[in-house]
Amino acid sequence: MRKQIVAGNWKMNNTFQEADDLINELVEFINSNDIGDIGVIICPPAPYLELTSDSASESDLFVGAQNVNDHESGAYTGEISAAMLESMNIDYCIIGHSERRKYYHESNEMLSEKVNRAIESSIQPIFCCGELLPEREAGEYFDVVKAQLEESLFHLKEEDFEDVVIAYEPVWAIGTGVTATSDQAQEMHAFIRSLIKEKYNENIAENTTILYGGSCNPKNARELFANKDVDGGLIGGASLKADDFAKIIQSF
Ligand code: PEP
Repeated sequence: MRKQIVAGNWKMNNTFQEADDLINELVEFINSNDIGDIGVIICPPAPYLELTSDSASESDLFVGAQNVNDHESGAYTGEISAAMLESMNIDYCIIGHSERRKYYHESNEMLSEKVNRAIESSIQPIFCCGELLPEREAGEYFDVVKAQLEESLFHLKEEDFEDVVIAYEPVWAIGTGVTATSDQAQEMHAFIRSLIKEKYNENIAENTTILYGGSCNPKNARELFANKDVDGGLIGGASLKADDFAKIIQSF
């Protein structure tokens, strides 16, 4: 059975104190509710990784970074390597978020290197893919997502691909309040799973966790997560409020 996951991407939000309060509220929620086997991952800004990791160790929370550099180490001022994340016991890393593709010009080729660095350091990539609005409107969305997967992920060997979590995030739905319909999400998730089956095999396809991301909130999470191929969500805005995030976790 593939893992169901809810991951919170805090992006560039919260002061240290606010981050501390939020993580403590989440730890309290996790420790006082039965969430079964659902994996809950918090991806705070990098300066709060240690704080989050320390607090998470008191519960079943996992911690993810929001980014990793594509080089192993060296003169890359301001950057963070996969080995550094590994040395801090970080479990996951978001790779290929559309905001990084847009503002920091991260190409599919660069992202394949980031995926490699993460895998080498036993960090599980949460690999984001998804089309822009004009690409959806032009009917090119399957081609765009296929290219993103083929150029950044499908070079992995079977045993490494098994560590990857995929997040389908239509860019037009991120932070806009416009969510993909349940049918649109299911259609793309099933397509992604079919590509994995074609490239690897049915067993790997069936065991790959595919998250939906894009204005997911306590009101729409249940309908989205009810889809056969939607295994949870990557949550931006709604992960910044403990109550909303908790309700999303309880939406399976
Ligand atoms: C995201 O940043 O990955 C995201 C899904 O954001 P939001 O939930 O705010 O749309």
